[in-house]
Amino acid sequence: MPKLILKIALDLPLDRLFDYLSGGQFAQVGQRVLVPFGRRKQIGIVIGVADSSDFTVEKLKTVLQVFADELPIDTETLSLLKFSADYYQYPFGQALLSALPARLRQIAPAVSRKQYVYALTDLGRQVDVKRIPKRQLVARRIFSALQMHSVLTEAALDAISSSARKAVKQLVADGWASRRQVPAIIKTLATPPATEPALNEEQKLAVQRITQESQLFKAWLLHGITGSGKTEVYIRLMQHVLQHNEAQVLVLVPEINLTPQLEARFRSRLPNFTLVSLHSNLSESERLHHWQLAQSGVAKIIIGTRLSIFTPLPKLKLIIIDEEHDSSYKQQDSMRYHARDVALVRAKRLNIPVVLGSATPALESWHNATVSANKQQTNKYNLVSLNQRAVIAAELPHIECIDTTKVNLQQGLSPQLIAALKLRLVRKEQSLLFINRRGYSPVLLCLACHWIAPCTRCSSRLVVHLGLRTLRCHHCGHEQKIPKQCPSCGNADLHPTGHGTQRLEQTLVQLLPTARIARVDRDSTSRKNSLLEILDQVHKQEIDILVGTQMLAKGHDFPNLTLVGVIDTDSALHSPDFRASERLFAQLMQVAGRAGRADKAGQVIIQTQFPDHELFNALRSQDYVTYANALLLEREQVQFPPYVFTALLRAEANEYLRVQNFLRYAFELARSLSHDVLVYDPVRPQMERLKGMERGHVLLQASSRTALQHMLRNLVQQLRAQDSAAKVRWAVDVNPLEF
Ligand code: ADP
Ligand code: ZN
Ligand code: ZN
Repeated sequence: MPKLILKIALDLPLDRLFDYLSGGQFAQVGQRVLVPFGRRKQIGIVIGVADSSDFTVEKLKTVLQVFADELPIDTETLSLLKFSADYYQYPFGQALLSALPARLRQIAPAVSRKQYVYALTDLGRQVDVKRIPKRQLVARRIFSALQMHSVLTEAALDAISSSARKAVKQLVADGWASRRQVPAIIKTLATPPATEPALNEEQKLAVQRITQESQLFKAWLLHGITGSGKTEVYIRLMQHVLQHNEAQVLVLVPEINLTPQLEARFRSRLPNFTLVSLHSNLSESERLHHWQLAQSGVAKIIIGTRLSIFTPLPKLKLIIIDEEHDSSYKQQDSMRYHARDVALVRAKRLNIPVVLGSATPALESWHNATVSANKQQTNKYNLVSLNQRAVIAAELPHIECIDTTKVNLQQGLSPQLIAALKLRLVRKEQSLLFINRRGYSPVLLCLACHWIAPCTRCSSRLVVHLGLRTLRCHHCGHEQKIPKQCPSCGNADLHPTGHGTQRLEQTLVQLLPTARIARVDRDSTSRKNSLLEILDQVHKQEIDILVGTQMLAKGHDFPNLTLVGVIDTDSALHSPDFRASERLFAQLMQVAGRAGRADKAGQVIIQTQFPDHELFNALRSQDYVTYANALLLEREQVQFPPYVFTALLRAEANEYLRVQNFLRYAFELARSLSHDVLVYDPVRPQMERLKGMERGHVLLQASSRTALQHMLRNLVQQLRAQDSAAKVRWAVDVNPLEF
């Protein structure tokens, strides 16, 4: 009788499956298993079951354990991961295992998180809330909530009060409430259901068009200015899909703290559908739990950051990608996938619609949705536009540029901006100052010899952080004390030069002593929930001025915020990165969109040395379309993406010579492999050294995606087999966003 062979994917940098004997254990494709590997044990996933092996069967080892209680990963998800691993030139086993929640990569059965739910007992239903002493306020509130909802989860208790879990125990002890353990999530305490606004004509049309074809694959680009009601359109589409089928909807959001707001909005508008989120702020057990709810089909709405595109979703019927242009959809290490592109593949395979929403679509998407510059119809996507703000009274903000070469700046602030801030204080309205640098100042300069504090591990400068009086590298995390004197000439007069969020905050405190100011950047929000707390304060009007980085640019809706100031974004105007202006435009449109969202007009003041730059012209007229078309024309003339397909072969080592030898070899090899792919000479990136590693890359470019793919496959195979490859760290980045 033939032995049963299991073909297993392991988390190893080798692009192959491993054969094991099943040892009589029953295992299906997609099942998680524990296998011996060398002297260790590893978690693997069964990819195939066969009755023969290319290896000597006697030498094969036997699977130690099959986690038979767990749902296997379905073939759709496996095949999507296989496709992605191939496309992004990454070992399948690693791609697969890193797409799983951490708990499923650990050598232990993944115990689903159990939770307790509470309900009133028969006795409890007969008593009046007044029998609970008045001072036991929390207990009273729990009791009322129990009367209103049939059950309360622990999460719902937490929402009532942080001491609610303790207080509920007394209710149980008194026999008024009961507690039981359940494996799956039950509806959390519903946010009060929100009323549904009547759609405006544009929104109606958008919803109509998309729902009419909601049963088949179509890519929709929903281009809508900020505040035009894109989210409202998503909600209607979700309602439609969820009500008409047994369905799941996946909503992708950028990797920022947008999920809680969107979650709350979806919960209140779609209260009958179980919603889970998947992002890096969850604990390992929460993530596993949410993932399993998605995998089992219990969760109907899944909101997640890029990795959630690989979540098994047996009833997936619609994918929505919010802020589709956001670069956080691209993974920048390991498998360098782009979640938007993977979403398109997934939607096509499932024959379901995918909706990409943005006020400033990525040029790739715009290109796909419009007639390209040379009038050749691309039309791969269907364009749906929302050109008006949804709230009728909300007008687009007035945008002006202040020429900083012509005014006297006070600590980096123009008189116009200061006056505008003061006016907001008088009017009791809120302001937001956007500056894309955290820290106190971006350089520490010696006035005597012009020495600048460098990072020893990267080709970058150290940023001055006050507070702990340190210098920090924002690229590698290196940290040191601010030196007392210049290490180069001994001069004691070291000068923090330029502005960061901390310095701006300090300036504002001095200039506007009565203002209540909050800073939002990665430093001030490192503690879990601190951003939410600040945003909450803003909503409660406890803050007058918000100072922050791009973290503030997105998604937040502050009705009383009427002024946005933009400070010093000029470096992006002249960046060697050809995507810099596209990104800056998107960013500024987004921040500008924060001003005047309700019934109060907004004002945006941009400080720049180049007020006549075409980017600012486009911004002033808030004309994405003209600007996007102009940028596309430029890209076409110089043959940049999306008119060509590119890939980068990146390499790094502790000595550049190694990188150079490797890249030289790869360059020759690549050239010999294909005539359809243009191979550029090895060069060093702008950031030559990073984290102590010397870096270089080779750019590959082709007019056909297939030609590039074909060549990359051969190249990577041969490089993997090559010995010299081992001495450098290298990786292929397909459709790179950063150079
Ligand atoms: P976007 O996602 O395009 O930025 P939102 O969907 O968040 O826009 O809508 C902006 C604001 O307008 C929100 O406060 C939302 O509640 C409101 N809104 C959206 N659609 C309508 C509508 N049809 N009628 C009234 N208000 C609306
Ligand atoms: Zn000096
Ligand atoms: Zn560094």
